[in-house]
Amino acid sequence: MNHPYPKILEDLMELLRSLPGVGRRSAERMAMSLFSWDAEKLEALARLLAELKKRVGTCSVCGNLADTAEGTPLCPICASPVRDASFLCIVENTPQIRSIEASGSFRGVYHVLGGRLAPLEGKGIESISLDALEKRLESGIFREVILALSPDVEGQATAVFLAGRLARFSLRISRLAQGLPAGSDLSYADPATIAAALSGRTSFDREEK
Ligand SMILES: [Zn+2]
Repeated sequence: MNHPYPKILEDLMELLRSLPGVGRRSAERMAMSLFSWDAEKLEALARLLAELKKRVGTCSVCGNLADTAEGTPLCPICASPVRDASFLCIVENTPQIRSIEASGSFRGVYHVLGGRLAPLEGKGIESISLDALEKRLESGIFREVILALSPDVEGQATAVFLAGRLARFSLRISRLAQGLPAGSDLSYADPATIAAALSGRTSFDREEK
């Protein structure tokens, strides 16, 4: 670069570039936009960033994001008395909970795996929260487990693995109906599509390969 910005702006742009979808030009625009903010607004942003990891944690029950302000983190879904705690929906990550909640068609509770199986990337069963899931199921309060994994190769391979692994529990294991675009990430599916996939869910065929 022929005419670099002052170092602090260059450093800021470099950090912004690590955000998804932000290239050099976008980072430059964002940094200059931030520079145009007044000091008060910039300080408010700085405070939020500094507090982010302290104030947001994972729910001690399901792994969803939760406010850590009041002791043991419990997400609003696990804390709610009106959710049907006998239906457990298994998702890969927390954005998927937001998508399913936006569909308004699920009243049970969730379990966040925190990833999925991807043997080629070295992600085996230790990379998902399987132990915590099995502990929850051992409580015997669940009637049905819905495997809401993304309709791509790794998501479906993870669903097949879980269906086999959880077969020892006496509960219905189901998965979302076909209809979600193949290869897509559930986090970005539209609410109507998710609602249809949930209401049309089918029992998992454990023999399926
Ligand atoms: Zn929770």
